[in-house]
Amino acid sequence: MYPIQSISEIIEAESLFADKEIKIEHLITDSRRITFAASSLFFAIKTEHRNGADFVEEAYRQGIRNFVLQENIDTGKYKDANFLFVKNTLASLQKLAAFHRLQFHYPVIGITGSNGKTIVKEWLNFLLNDDYKIIRSPRSYNSQIGVPLSVWEMGEEDNLGIFEAGISEVNKMENLEKIIQPEIGIFTNLGDAHEKGFTSKQQKLEEKIKLFQHSKIVFANADDEQIISTLKKKTSAQILSYGKNQQATLKIIDIKKEQRQTTVVADYQAKEISITIPFIDDASLQNACVCWLAAIYLNIDEKIIQQKMLQLPVIDMRLQVLPAINNCTIINDSYSLDIDSLSVGLDLLNQQLLSKTLILSDFHNDDERIYQSAINILVNKKINRLIIIGKNWQQYQTELKNKIAAVETYSTSNDFINHFQPNHFKNEAILLKGARCFHFEELLNLLIQKVHQTRLEINLSNIVHNLKEYRKHLKPTTKVMAMVKAFAYGSGSIEIASILQYHKIDYLTVAYADEGVELRNAGINIPIMVMNTDEYGFETIVQHNLEPEIYSFKILNEFAVFLQKQGVAQFPVHLKIDTGMHRLGFEESQMDDLIAGLKANKSLVIKSVFSHLVGSEDAAEDDFTKKQTDIFIRCCAQIENALQYKFIRHISNSAAIIRHPEIQFDMVRLGIGLYGVNYTPEKMDLKVVASLKTTIAQIKHEQPGDSVGYNQKGKINKPTTTATIRIGYADGYNRRFSNGAGFVLINNQPAKVIGNVAMDMTMVDITDIPNVKEGDDVEVFGENLPVQKLAKQSGTIAYEIFTSVGQRVKRVYVEE
Ligand SMILES: *Cc1c(COP(=O)(O)O)cnc(C)c1O
Repeated sequence: MYPIQSISEIIEAESLFADKEIKIEHLITDSRRITFAASSLFFAIKTEHRNGADFVEEAYRQGIRNFVLQENIDTGKYKDANFLFVKNTLASLQKLAAFHRLQFHYPVIGITGSNGKTIVKEWLNFLLNDDYKIIRSPRSYNSQIGVPLSVWEMGEEDNLGIFEAGISEVNKMENLEKIIQPEIGIFTNLGDAHEKGFTSKQQKLEEKIKLFQHSKIVFANADDEQIISTLKKKTSAQILSYGKNQQATLKIIDIKKEQRQTTVVADYQAKEISITIPFIDDASLQNACVCWLAAIYLNIDEKIIQQKMLQLPVIDMRLQVLPAINNCTIINDSYSLDIDSLSVGLDLLNQQLLSKTLILSDFHNDDERIYQSAINILVNKKINRLIIIGKNWQQYQTELKNKIAAVETYSTSNDFINHFQPNHFKNEAILLKGARCFHFEELLNLLIQKVHQTRLEINLSNIVHNLKEYRKHLKPTTKVMAMVKAFAYGSGSIEIASILQYHKIDYLTVAYADEGVELRNAGINIPIMVMNTDEYGFETIVQHNLEPEIYSFKILNEFAVFLQKQGVAQFPVHLKIDTGMHRLGFEESQMDDLIAGLKANKSLVIKSVFSHLVGSEDAAEDDFTKKQTDIFIRCCAQIENALQYKFIRHISNSAAIIRHPEIQFDMVRLGIGLYGVNYTPEKMDLKVVASLKTTIAQIKHEQPGDSVGYNQKGKINKPTTTATIRIGYADGYNRRFSNGAGFVLINNQPAKVIGNVAMDMTMVDITDIPNVKEGDDVEVFGENLPVQKLAKQSGTIAYEIFTSVGQRVKRVYVEE
């Protein structure tokens, strides 16, 4: 605590005092973040977009009586307030923080670099917090304002500081260095991305490492030559490094990546040590290694390091604001809990217009002072309702109940979950703030709204699995074209295309040009074939680099003319041969004319020649498949002879890949199999990709003589319980499922359709299914009710069921 008069002297202000004795404990730059008004000093900072001076009145109204200003305002209105006038409020804030920093002599770690600063800070805190009392930057407070506010929190009770510093232009790190004065430095990494504020990568590096001007030790990546040599040149710190480099202090000798974790073996002072972390990406690996080295340096026991490394948390600093049940809003900050982040979360809660509820767990640490300051904060923030979870809180119950309107207590998260009633939460903003071990993500699940009750869940990991299964049947050189036509068989083309692109699929195919444009706009850059083209689509096709299927002389000529007019040469196209489907394509008898046409114009180049089989899944069609294939081979040969260049040949769809491996040619076209459906009698290990789910809106009991649904079609002969489910033919639940033709699964048991399927709803018989409640989930097809079975019930095929799922049904993507 500093008397306002001392602060005035420290920042060399010209002051107008109403009360020189006021003691300042908190610094504020944002009038939305006021908790302890009486002991706060408001810095009216002027930035490009915002002038703090405009908020003086608002801050005063909220009880602030101490201001630092850089411009004159009419102070007459605020007779009981102290005003400190300076040249530059931001510089003064920094100066005050730097002064405060000098009062402490325990080690301070300063972290900078292009990426990973917050993760490294949080992981270090996680590794060290049983051995040190740590003060660290909240969230990613690493800016010109964030750093002084963070350092201001340093106190007598701490014995280690960890602060991050970030800059985006030159001549800024000096300010942060003066405030943090790190004895120990950590340089995470140097990104390649060009940043506006720097002229070169080297300059960016040199500016960033100014943080270590006076540091004794700096930790850095030994494998980055530029960083190490620059650190050597520009600082006098001792460099402790990690990496594969022979010179590294912590020399990595082996990295073993498994499905979900990575084990790193290293040589440290001629001793072999190792850690295992629950991550497999390289960035996490780097971040963990620098933390490892720092933890060793700070004398953390090897066993503790190993134990904690195994549990390194996912760091997600976002505060999510989500719609929740009964008109509530949730602010989800369930990842960590300390006093600073509690304040930040409460500030956001205060910006909500609804009544304010806080669900709060015990702190990691049972220090009474922490609980007392939390209580102070809660009282000041005027929480309407407090729900506390944990044993430590119990002893403060009476105090809490005296000071806060409504308090509920639970001893564990499970206790809360077991007593949970949705109607207990209505029209309120709820902040979820819990230490990790309380698993508040489970509370979150209860509270968030299931926005669309009817949903098509798409498992992206299973798509990748299915792709691998088909690849097992292919020669290593055979390319794969994935059919993502018709919204990727109803699954959502962008998401499917993205994951396939990531898994190195060679080609994508859509039905119409517009579908291709959507993929291009979403950043899909692999080749895309468009099956159905007409002259109105040419412009779109060329502009978006899509590759049309050419199936007739009309389209061939029109496209060639279009390309010539545009001056485009060698544009890739795909020739469709009609070998028996009689849908689209050139017939064998037309080959001579086709070849003449192709030779005559140089504007297009044949990327592939292909045909489509009419019944590759069906043994009864095998003779016809053979006939189609023979025609295809002859046509390809004729075209290749004439054109004198090679192109990709392809005829197989999903079923042919399995049943006719000899006709793979150069590429296969994988469709329904990718989505988990195998129409051949052959056994395959495919996984379900799409599951259509809905929920029960109401449960009813009918007596003999009653009827259910339109036109009394659902006749009741015995006492019957029915559930009305939130799906109808407008969602793709076919009307042919009416009157017992179809069933759904509830609690994994079949419930037959009663009466006619309606547009948005359907009634099913649940008489024999125990323990069904309104709101329960219903599986329409998926894991337990295969889509093929459903297709059979309504006399169709899985393709139609998939592509009929209505657009209003929300697609929800899961990845494992
Ligand atoms: C849809 C389609 C496919 C994919 O067929 P599946 O049976 O789903 O594997 C292959 N080729 C063409 C021309 C198609 O239209």
